[in-house]
Amino acid sequence: REIKLNNSTDKRTYVMPLRPMAEDLKENVVVACGGGDRNVGLLSPIKANMSSKVARKLSMVSEPCGSKNVDVEESETTEVKSTMANGRILVFGRLRPVAKKEREAGSKCCVRIVNKRDIYLTEFANENDYLRLKRLRGRHFTFDASFPDSTTQQEVYSKTTAGLVEAVLQGRNGSVFCYGATGAGKTFTMLGTMDNPGVMVLAIKDLFSKIRLRSFEGNHTVHLSYLEVYNETVRDLLAPGRPLVLREDKQGIVAAGLTQYRAYSTDEVMALLQQGNLNRTTEPTRANETSSRSHAILQVVVEYQVKGASGNVVNRVGKLSLIDLAGSERAIATDQRTLRSLEGANINRSLLALSSCINALVEGKKHIPYRNSKLTQLLKDSLGGACNTVMIANISPSSLSFGETQNTLHWADRAKEIRTKACDVN
Ligand code: ADP
Ligand code: MG
Repeated sequence: REIKLNNSTDKRTYVMPLRPMAEDLKENVVVACGGGDRNVGLLSPIKANMSSKVARKLSMVSEPCGSKNVDVEESETTEVKSTMANGRILVFGRLRPVAKKEREAGSKCCVRIVNKRDIYLTEFANENDYLRLKRLRGRHFTFDASFPDSTTQQEVYSKTTAGLVEAVLQGRNGSVFCYGATGAGKTFTMLGTMDNPGVMVLAIKDLFSKIRLRSFEGNHTVHLSYLEVYNETVRDLLAPGRPLVLREDKQGIVAAGLTQYRAYSTDEVMALLQQGNLNRTTEPTRANETSSRSHAILQVVVEYQVKGASGNVVNRVGKLSLIDLAGSERAIATDQRTLRSLEGANINRSLLALSSCINALVEGKKHIPYRNSKLTQLLKDSLGGACNTVMIANISPSSLSFGETQNTLHWADRAKEIRTKACDVN
């Protein structure tokens, strides 16, 4: 009923009771666990005479990852927090499935998700030594939740954005960013496909159904705008044409002349967004691909009137920004020296500026360099302002993307430390 574990690092012996599942396994499986708060819990697969439930769990562990949810410890999962955490950015990781091209190129899976929160970067397809990985720098990351490749679009929406939609209906602002290398699944997460719509579409769908339930509260109007920042130029994705100029008014920074599309139903929105995405700038060298260097921002503004305490009518406005960022490859820089040298190399200036703003916010600097790029100007009130902010770090499972994945997770880990201001009702 007990297991003794000699820890070679601190030279101590831990004695731990076996968990109920281990009893179930009898001698067939060795159970190794970290002590106290380092509560890992692994099963080393010696499969014989075990219950089918356990066998299934083990096969999930030993299966090449990317194809299955490698969630080892469901019983000990910490409940995923709600999407509302005033004063802090919520950060999530999302793993996409292995692509056919990656499999054909012989790539191995290098990402494991454990406990629905922890992401481990491994070197070998079947490496399960999470305690060792925890000790290595840059191999273990914990987020508010981490989504394995089997996670549905609806689940991702519910856990990351649904709370923000509710807040927007109460007159608060919210924003959701997808960050990651090109091909990591940002557009899939944000826009999705016709059959498998993503956060943008699900948020609007949810918004309309919530508005229907609140119809007694008065008329709500929903306006959409969809814009792109590419090479420091802002363009309207719903009405392509001349570049837009950014102006500061009492609501903050706005793109002058941007189309505000009045939306009445979900159906029209998906088609509208698909069309908008076709208008995204394509890279001249890769004409078939939407640019890996363009940022797309969907803004959903909900407006309605409520009766104030003294009987007067008060106008309430809530704004939700959903952002599909440019590919993060080559744009990671955590110290100023690297930032400057990269800037010379014609790297996406907006993404670098975003990194600088995040660094400045994390370090608690007084001056946050929002003005350095169009993207950061547009996102000023989403980052340091009064806003509920969510980040989704998109990653590929492939060992060929190990470096990019590590950079994305490192960046997201840093974003966890940003504190936002209390989010007030507008
Ligand atoms: P990015 O926008 O980050 O460059 P995409 O969203 O275009 O990447 O994803 C690259 C490819 O992977 C696309 O073909 C997309 O359909 C697919 N993909 C990404 N994430 C998932 C997922 N969670 N499930 C299934 N396919 C996905
Ligand atoms: Mg994309």
